[in-house]
Amino acid sequence: MRVIVALFVCTLAGLSVPASAETCPGNPDALGTSRVLTINPGEFTLLGTMQYEQTLPLKDHEVVLTFDDGPLPPYTDIILDTLASQCVKATYFLVGQMAHANPFVVRRIYNEGHTIGTHSQHHPNFQRLSMRRVEREVDGGINSVTAALGDAKALSFFFRIPYLGRTNAIERFLERKQLVTWSADVDTNDWWRGSSPGAIVKRTMRRLNAQGRGIILMHDIHRATAMALPILLKELKANGYNVVHVVADGERPKSIPELIALPASDGKALPTELTNAASGDHTLATRQNQRIKKRRVSSHHPAHWWFQANQVTTTKRPFWVIGGH
Ligand SMILES: [Zn+2]
Repeated sequence: MRVIVALFVCTLAGLSVPASAETCPGNPDALGTSRVLTINPGEFTLLGTMQYEQTLPLKDHEVVLTFDDGPLPPYTDIILDTLASQCVKATYFLVGQMAHANPFVVRRIYNEGHTIGTHSQHHPNFQRLSMRRVEREVDGGINSVTAALGDAKALSFFFRIPYLGRTNAIERFLERKQLVTWSADVDTNDWWRGSSPGAIVKRTMRRLNAQGRGIILMHDIHRATAMALPILLKELKANGYNVVHVVADGERPKSIPELIALPASDGKALPTELTNAASGDHTLATRQNQRIKKRRVSSHHPAHWWFQANQVTTTKRPFWVIGGH
């Protein structure tokens, strides 16, 4: 447990102090995160030159890493390990049903200092839906990710439309909900069937070098992406790129309680929160902890127990993988 707490402390340090090659523990050659870019409510509505005129105010050789469609073990975890080893912070656009299936990973993403936005509940093509169903998908995704996080304040007001399937009406709707709609500047096309990690990196660097900066679009549900990321980060460093961490303005919990699992009466696992997680004096966490104490959490059910069981059922690739975005 001491090791876990120490890891939390390291992670929290990364939240407030931008990491750099000089400050990345254990890795003097790390790419690091060069600065934090805070987005205020109403400052932007549409971002990304793949679809829009406006994008993030990035300087030359600045990039923002984004990951869509997860979380999905083990690839999301491998990617988180890679980012942590390089002290790099990213932005995640989570799918509600994936967050519901993998709440442990959602909390890991947050506690390791990354930004979390949403990407609908079931990842349908919005262009084929009525606006009423679009609304249900957007709200459902936000509700599922919020439930997985256990704290609405941990979620950022960032949204990416599945398949980047925009229409004027959809964008107007998202703006009314005070969500910032993210497209991207550099597509890795990491979902292309048969893309090798090397090919993904080569394609990404070619497109990035042509623009000199931008939001990079990836998916943390693919093996090839997980394998490509260490190479890509190395290439970014070698080519003088700096990673910018984008955060939504607002008060956010420093961390949220980790989940462990308790077997329910029907024999199925029931995720619940650790009583002694680094939750500070947060009222919600305290209330939840009090509730959990009543359920007599014991050390006989370590944190990885439910996770391992859960992996068996959730490593199935989601249906939209073939279609990309
Ligand atoms: Zn997607």
